[in-house]
Amino acid sequence: MKTFLSNHTYLLILMLWMTASTQAQTLLIPDRVFDGEEMHSGWVVAVAENKIVYAGPENGLKRANSYKRIDLGGTTLMPGIIEGHSHLLLHPYNETEWNDQVLKESPTERAIRGVVHAKKSLMAGITTMRDLGSEGAGYTDVYLKKTIDDGIIPGPRLLVAGPAIVATGAYGPKGFHDGVTVPLGAVPVSGRDEAIKEVRTQMGNGANLIKIYADYRWKTGESSQPTFLQEEIDAMVAAATTAGRYVVAHASTPEGMRRAILGGVETIEHGDGGTMEIFQLMKAKKVAFCPTLAAGDATEQYKGWKKDTEPDTDRIIQKKKSFKLALESGVDIVFGGDVGVFPHGENYREMELMVEYGIQPIKVLQSATSVNARVLHLEGLGQIQNDFLADIIAVEGDPSQNIKQMEKVRFVMKDGVIYKNE
Ligand SMILES: [Zn+2]
Repeated sequence: MKTFLSNHTYLLILMLWMTASTQAQTLLIPDRVFDGEEMHSGWVVAVAENKIVYAGPENGLKRANSYKRIDLGGTTLMPGIIEGHSHLLLHPYNETEWNDQVLKESPTERAIRGVVHAKKSLMAGITTMRDLGSEGAGYTDVYLKKTIDDGIIPGPRLLVAGPAIVATGAYGPKGFHDGVTVPLGAVPVSGRDEAIKEVRTQMGNGANLIKIYADYRWKTGESSQPTFLQEEIDAMVAAATTAGRYVVAHASTPEGMRRAILGGVETIEHGDGGTMEIFQLMKAKKVAFCPTLAAGDATEQYKGWKKDTEPDTDRIIQKKKSFKLALESGVDIVFGGDVGVFPHGENYREMELMVEYGIQPIKVLQSATSVNARVLHLEGLGQIQNDFLADIIAVEGDPSQNIKQMEKVRFVMKDGVIYKNE
């Protein structure tokens, strides 16, 4: 039996190690760098292994020649996009209505679709995604996350909510007589005890955060009404925060939003009926707002609204109005479009609508990177800065001048690995 490696073998291993470490050092050379806060012309970004090790003018980088150079001429380099509200397990409702996805597509089919959606998202520059509910597919989101983390399939870093929690009787699919049992889009609970137990069950099964529905339409076609009592929301938030997790709330009525805010949720999703008073309360309580403009825009078009030729529908008018109030209040805006309602990989729709509804492009870019990293507790992500993780994308042109450039993602690196370089 041979105990020692020969000198020759040692030398070979040393050479291989040196080659590997050199190749893992990459110098990215775009036209400009958006660092998560502002734009810098003429910067380069150096990456070693999975970390950013330098961002600045090339003449400030020591041993620049030791890096493998990647020319990204004509592009803006920026942190990977952090999608704040997705459903990897849904696909557009104009392909298959939500009810039919929940009732007729098996969790297996939905998982397979989810694999495709995850790859599309990553290739569109989404390197992190907060997925807010499997919508009837149980813990499939947890398993998608696991297989991405294990390197089995390509996809964004995921934060997942699991099945989400609704008040008994409030959620769909609806329209069946009381003798028919149908799979629901989330888990129903009533009362403090059930609510606490479900929060713990979901965390135990791998949910990174808890999503609750603070209001919903009790009957198809009706407007939304509050669902949970204040004490139920308080209990769910307490059960989650004691475990180091947090709660987010679907809410679009002022009262639903108010209860969720007072209960201590961290973000409000949708908020269509938000008033100035409510947004100011959010601001005071440091609750962030994820407006999901693209979901409303898509569903109104599915219902027949001809966006280019017809005036805004009532829902769109209301959405623009409440979004303006949110901006005036100074509440943190989370970039999150509710993608899945519309095609995965078209996350940029939300950015374009944010600009259309009144935010400057640079603020949209901040929201999708540094702001979302802060609000979603993602340390080491969302900025191009020394020691941050190498989640980096490059898009054609300058998206701070024209947000539509976000449709043209040419380069994607996640955790130091290049997934796209066109
Ligand atoms: Zn959603």
